[in-house]
Amino acid sequence: MFDYAPAPEARDIVDLKPSYGLFINGEFVDGSGSSFKTINPATEEKLAEVASASSDDVDRAVQAARKAFGVWSALPGAERAKYLFRIARLIQERARELAVLESLDNGKPIRESRDVDVPLVAAHFFYYAGWADKLAYAGFGTKPLGVAGQVIPWNFPLLMLAWKVAPALACGNTVVLKPAETTPLTALLFAEICRQAELPPGVVNIMTGAGETGAAVVAHPDVNKVAFTGSTEVGRIIARAVAGTDKKLTLELGGKAANIVFEDAAIDQAVEGIVNGIFFNQGHVCCAGSRLLVQESVHDELLESLKRRLGTLRLGDPLDKNTDIGAINSAEQLAKIRELSEAGADEGAERWSPACELPDRGYWFPPTLFTGVALSHRIAREEIFGPVLSVLTFRTPAEAVEKANNTPYGLSAGVWTEKGSRILWMADRLRAGVVWANTFNKFDPTSPFGGYKESGYGREGGLAGLEAYLDV
Ligand code: NDP
Repeated sequence: MFDYAPAPEARDIVDLKPSYGLFINGEFVDGSGSSFKTINPATEEKLAEVASASSDDVDRAVQAARKAFGVWSALPGAERAKYLFRIARLIQERARELAVLESLDNGKPIRESRDVDVPLVAAHFFYYAGWADKLAYAGFGTKPLGVAGQVIPWNFPLLMLAWKVAPALACGNTVVLKPAETTPLTALLFAEICRQAELPPGVVNIMTGAGETGAAVVAHPDVNKVAFTGSTEVGRIIARAVAGTDKKLTLELGGKAANIVFEDAAIDQAVEGIVNGIFFNQGHVCCAGSRLLVQESVHDELLESLKRRLGTLRLGDPLDKNTDIGAINSAEQLAKIRELSEAGADEGAERWSPACELPDRGYWFPPTLFTGVALSHRIAREEIFGPVLSVLTFRTPAEAVEKANNTPYGLSAGVWTEKGSRILWMADRLRAGVVWANTFNKFDPTSPFGGYKESGYGREGGLAGLEAYLDV
């Protein structure tokens, strides 16, 4: 393995304020709830104090969004598109600032926030800007729903915001969005970008806070549409809160994806895909390939290559451009990963990690493999949401399908084989919203994303993503 000289990205491009308010009706205002601090998970240093929105604040934001809906929905689509294109270009102009801030608040490597998250965020706004004046051709009508209440998680703070805000605005809706408690800062910088783009006041409102703030957004009687990404557990609470109302609901929840490697696959490519599948973003990915299903005949060969490759991953400072694995987002998430990993070892699976030094401060977990995993083990059934891979084996394609589908989730899957016919045969049988062939974790704004079973319902992205924001 090479020695790398440190290559830290400068953080002074980010102008961190000591405290942040809520973004309501185009202005930053004080919240009436108590504030909370957001920290850098790589160092545990406090980054800023952030306002927590009470249900009164949420009410003010929903009223602002309702008023703005009259103006925004009456604009011709081509006019709305101009704003969305402007936002997309500002995101590109301020890409480095957004990437550094995302890595500071979330702990993800700058290489990922710079090369994956932020470019995809801009691409999402460009893509839906293109739809704003063409809704009549999409097949879902042209009538927006009204005010959208949106609640997003901490794993891709800005990207999840883009997935929610861009299609909502393109269709003529206005938005009240709650970012996750541990990662509010890029949503607030996005609010500043909305001002810079001179978006009419009230079209986008950002409500920082904890779970109760999210619950207040979801429960507000004047919200017409709820969009949520997060855990299946909270998804259930939200489905209950919305049941019996005429709110439209989309849920994007957890996953436990199978990444299936056949003996005829290009093993070195598959190893790269497995690493990308589970160690990208510290494994904090709902569609992560957290269950590796490998054909028995190539198990030993593949495991040997995989272990060699894991030995080259660099864990550490998220702002260092060499870093592959950054910090775990919070102490709570770290405790959950530890607990499930211990359960894996207790249930009899064999645990392995490469030699890897963890920094003294902050939240860290080494890349970890479990072999000898049975389908009944907790590490094969529950979403770990961390850099932990469970390895299982199969002998025949039918057994691979059976094992891959043996999960309450159904968000994504991967298939590695040289045969196109086998890819199609597998894709037909896998109960997953997305099936990647000889690749993994590939995202594109034109391509719909969403789940089956306990992974939720509704689709985000692509033409299908418009449906959720129109009165069909
Ligand atoms: P949650 O589902 O709790 O959080 C997602 C968002 O919902 C956050 O903004 C959260 O606020 C908010 N929220 C929490 N409770 C409520 C509520 N009752 N009503 C409305 N909104 C609410 O995920 P966690 O962050 O707690 O992560 C727990 C587990 O969820 C992870 O370990 C992982 O397995 C899974 N997860 C899955 C994701 C996915 O993309 N599928 C994303 C994130 C997590 P706050 O941040 O303040 O808690």
